[in-house]
Amino acid sequence: MPQGPLQEIVIVGGGTAGWMTAAALSRFLEGACRIRLIESDAIGTVGVGEATIPQIRLFNAGLGIDEDEFIRETQGSYKLGIEFVDWHHVGSRYMHAFGSVGRDIGLLPFHHYWLAGRNAGTAADFGAYSFNAAAARANRYNRGAPSVAGLPELVHAYHFDAGLYARYLRRYAEARGVVRHEGRITRVERDGESGDVRQLTLEDGSVIAGQLFIDCTGFRGLLIGETLGTGYEDWSQWLACDRAYAVPCASADFTPYTRATARAAGWQWRIPLQHRTGNGHVYSSAHISDDEAAATLLAHLDGEALGEPRPLRFTAGRRERMWAHNVVAIGLASGFLEPLESTSIHLIQSGIARLLTLLPDAGMAPALRDEFNRQSAWEIARIRDFIILHYKATARDDTPFWRRARDMAIPDDLADRIRLFAETGRVRRDHDELFTEIGWTQVFLGQGIVPAAPHPLAGLVAPADLAGFLAQLQGAITREVASLPDHAAFIRRHNAANRQV
Ligand SMILES: Cc1cc2nc3c(=O)[nH]c(=O)nc-3n(C[C@H](O)[C@H](O)[C@H](O)COP(=O)(O)OP(=O)(O)OC[C@H]3O[C@@H](n4cnc5c(N)ncnc54)[C@H](O)[C@@H]3O)c2cc1C
Repeated sequence: MPQGPLQEIVIVGGGTAGWMTAAALSRFLEGACRIRLIESDAIGTVGVGEATIPQIRLFNAGLGIDEDEFIRETQGSYKLGIEFVDWHHVGSRYMHAFGSVGRDIGLLPFHHYWLAGRNAGTAADFGAYSFNAAAARANRYNRGAPSVAGLPELVHAYHFDAGLYARYLRRYAEARGVVRHEGRITRVERDGESGDVRQLTLEDGSVIAGQLFIDCTGFRGLLIGETLGTGYEDWSQWLACDRAYAVPCASADFTPYTRATARAAGWQWRIPLQHRTGNGHVYSSAHISDDEAAATLLAHLDGEALGEPRPLRFTAGRRERMWAHNVVAIGLASGFLEPLESTSIHLIQSGIARLLTLLPDAGMAPALRDEFNRQSAWEIARIRDFIILHYKATARDDTPFWRRARDMAIPDDLADRIRLFAETGRVRRDHDELFTEIGWTQVFLGQGIVPAAPHPLAGLVAPADLAGFLAQLQGAITREVASLPDHAAFIRRHNAANRQV
């Protein structure tokens, strides 16, 4: 068993996962290890990850990246949440907005008071009490504290061009000593005794040896899957979508939110960037042909298509082990959940954070590997269940795809959560799982799961007081939203790339 500090890290793959890993390791290991990255321009990257969740700000801040510069460099925009259109029934829409909704009173989360108000006929839509959702719908954004006392700040993530982000991080990582090797890997050699990966041979014959290998090779999982034979847990019985077409179109409505519109056999995303709008149709190939899927996408763009739709194939699921031998899989090599809640880039980020926390020395203590695998498996399964909820809790029965979704058996853990909310309005959130109580609540309610009665304590507030409280809150949000600048105007002032939005 080798001893001593880790000295050689090899990152395999230069997509979003590879360069995020390279940037973070170069920043936090501060030269303690030699870091090399191999990528092949001939193979290319997936490059369609464009919508994120607010945690990305922590990642960028950890690297010391200036927000305004980052948005300029990546043609980015602000994202306040995701609007779900036609998910519960055709004609329905709701927002899963970031940040809080309403204001908690005493012991209880706000939604119990909202439920009491709803039952008394004095409450507006749940989203009317979310500052983020109201600002998003009005196409407005501002940074910093609101002028109305008691309202929280807007909580934002970003839309950005993933290819430009990878390029930006490449410059960052190379400036901190990461050495990039261009070329296709044609041979992987393992240690005869331990089975660990020892070295990689590139097409030009050059050999790169390492102690720890980070597999960021995308869906194929060159090291974790093809070389080490780590299996893949298939979740398509719950998440039937297995293909996508992606196409950018000319910019139109520059909204500070992502839109996810349900279609007959899947759903379509719309992500506004400064120089274009990203679009994609995620669909189940068992329910619609590729030609129909591409045609559906092209028929629902709000600007001229800027190219041909690009096909992508995937299987929802995860690697059985994300760390095997001396190989840690990060990004698509470790698993994939469809981008409905924009979680893939977050999973890259949390994989990197976990690796840094559990960083091994040359001895590769198996306990570190086991803990990494335990945490990774737990995290992605909780996100999986949250995504399944969007499909399961639908009233749609207009196509075989939606009837299947509505009638499918779901993981017991998710079934328990749905029952708890439907019967009592209580939300279960385990430990530090990604989606918060308010995230679950917005999707439960948006998907038509409305508890019959609120928490008993919410009923103790006098109806007139409750109505006054709700009206005052809604009024404060409406007033504050009206005072915010337009999203495009904010970007023009602070973050405009070459082209004006
Ligand atoms: C349809 C779709 C939509 C998505 N939308 C979002 C979204 O909105 N938000 C979000 O967070 N995420 C999204 N994602 C996920 C996101 O795109 C990925 O998480 C992200 O791009 C990371 O990809 P990656 O770096 O793991 O893999 P890739 O981009 O596939 O990169 C793989 C790298 O490995 C290299 N490579 C592979 N084999 C070899 C070899 N033999 N030799 C040398 N190099 C090799 C390639 O050259 C490349 O550099 C989406 C994914 C899909 C499929």
